[in-house]
Amino acid sequence: MAHMDAKINFAQVNKIEHVGIAVKDLEASNEIFEKLLGVPNYKIEEVLSEGVKTSFFKSGPNKIELLEATNEDSPIAKYIEKKGEGVHHIAFAVDDITAEIERLKGEGFIVLNETPKKGADNKLVAFVHPKSANGVLVELCQEIKEA
Ligand code: ZN
Repeated sequence: MAHMDAKINFAQVNKIEHVGIAVKDLEASNEIFEKLLGVPNYKIEEVLSEGVKTSFFKSGPNKIELLEATNEDSPIAKYIEKKGEGVHHIAFAVDDITAEIERLKGEGFIVLNETPKKGADNKLVAFVHPKSANGVLVELCQEIKEA
């Protein structure tokens, strides 16, 4: 894999969009993060396809997503079983998720979603396998613009 390769366009990854945290009990964790950040969550959203219930917090420019499994086949249930609660993924905002999936595949990353899917908080998302990113599950997300 290239290191300081000139063809890498860093502008394609804009910023960390949010950090995802796997929790066992969303209600209890909402209280903890409300105390920690000093603000209540602004949204709770269930993503049926992922088997998760999410809760979002904004603190300044930062966003935290808490994820609770809604069934035992959920990736979050499996994650907690294996590793316990904690940081689950880092999400990067991108302008063109399809182009970014292609770019990362070209760089040798294992992209779990060939075509982006609808995620929480009005985003198209795709994940990069932690095996190919130093143990970090990376989520790419692109804001869905109203037509
Ligand atoms: Zn996320």
